[in-house]
Amino acid sequence: MCRLPASLSKFIILSFSILFLSGSAVPAFSAATLSIGISTGDDRASFSAGNAQITITSTSGAKATFKSSVQVVLSGSGAIKAGSSTLNLPVTVRSSSMLRWNNRPYRGYFRLVPEGRGFNVVNVLGVEDYLKGVLKMEVNPAWPMESLKAQAIIARTYALRNKNRHGSSGFDLCALNHCQVYRGVNAEDPTLTKAIESTRGMVLNYNGAYAATFYHSDSGGHTANVSAVWGSSIPYLQGKPEPVNYESPYSKWQVTLRMSDIQRALSSKGINVGKLSGLQVASTDSAGRAVDLTLLGSSGRTSIRASQFRMIMGSDRIRSTYFTIGGSQPAAPTYLSRSDPAASAYSGEENIPLSGKDEQLLLSLTQKGVFKTEELMDMLVRPEKRGFYLRKAMERQSGSEEELNIQLSGSMVSGETVTFIGKGWGHGVGLSQWGAKSLAEAGWDHKRILQHYFPGTSIDRVSY
Ligand SMILES: [Zn+2]
Repeated sequence: MCRLPASLSKFIILSFSILFLSGSAVPAFSAATLSIGISTGDDRASFSAGNAQITITSTSGAKATFKSSVQVVLSGSGAIKAGSSTLNLPVTVRSSSMLRWNNRPYRGYFRLVPEGRGFNVVNVLGVEDYLKGVLKMEVNPAWPMESLKAQAIIARTYALRNKNRHGSSGFDLCALNHCQVYRGVNAEDPTLTKAIESTRGMVLNYNGAYAATFYHSDSGGHTANVSAVWGSSIPYLQGKPEPVNYESPYSKWQVTLRMSDIQRALSSKGINVGKLSGLQVASTDSAGRAVDLTLLGSSGRTSIRASQFRMIMGSDRIRSTYFTIGGSQPAAPTYLSRSDPAASAYSGEENIPLSGKDEQLLLSLTQKGVFKTEELMDMLVRPEKRGFYLRKAMERQSGSEEELNIQLSGSMVSGETVTFIGKGWGHGVGLSQWGAKSLAEAGWDHKRILQHYFPGTSIDRVSY
């Protein structure tokens, strides 16, 4: 299971988001092959092909053939030595049988291109064959077939949208999290191959271009707006509730961090407010997902995007931005939480001052008829109890199906440590893998699943 969060992290690297968001036109030519950089800056490589012949060819047409296997070593700059032959880079390495590079099997053929004082090892193969070496790093083959098909379409769309991403290094995509993790034939799985073959050539398009097919592990019940995470607005990447309820290993999480550790991490990224003394969810989206945080320190206050905060603190610690914040030291939680059971157990809870946002929330809930008559009467007589009743109302609401279309924000939390109580894992944008799994279990097919998470896109077929 550990591969899931690892594969997710590639989408949340802020510095690369521009590439995802920029879009690229669907090419008119056939997108049949992809070149994948599987190793860079090398000075040697070994190839084998069972009992078959291996042919190395340079651009000039110079050729050398070998039986079964060959060792290739860098020879001066821009050339290699293979056996007794010296060939200028770039070269191709081909065989009629499946080739192994450093004893690992790969489909297609190889290209060695010069890079700095070494060469890059590039695997050139068909798009569908490439996906076979990718999908296992993205999904669990034991999941329902329709959710696997949806993931296959996402991975294919991603690859074609990002073709030539590493063009300056002589290949399309790298084999790491930065693009999509690719491990060749060793990563293939018969069930996933079936999901790939039954969706052959299918991609997700929007306005004639490949769509930005973001996905994450678990939305926690409601996906996020792309604008809250990366700032750009994309019509088909708006937050929406999950159609069915489900439980995942990441449905609920909680982590307690030391204020001093938070301060150190923020400071290392150039965010300084002096000695950090308080933390607050300043704004949320309509589902209650944190969008902005306020940091209070000895030299002032500043705000930070919740998604940026999550990346700085570690996306495996702050698993999502769908969190509320509570203090644990000292033991007076001056916050509102819709999910923290400890909050209602606290006995000194009746005199919690309300922030401006909480006042608005109280008003909104009153208009919705959430409070009981005796609660309203009591609040009228004893205004200091409004916080108490507000939290009680929030707890009642969180147990219901009804969407709270209001801005929920917390109070400033201070102390030695702060506790984040959250739901889901990942940035929350696009497809929720656990959501898609539960939809497939509920009988949805891959088309309906993709239409739900990427509304307004169309499934088209690329011809190879
Ligand atoms: Zn890459």
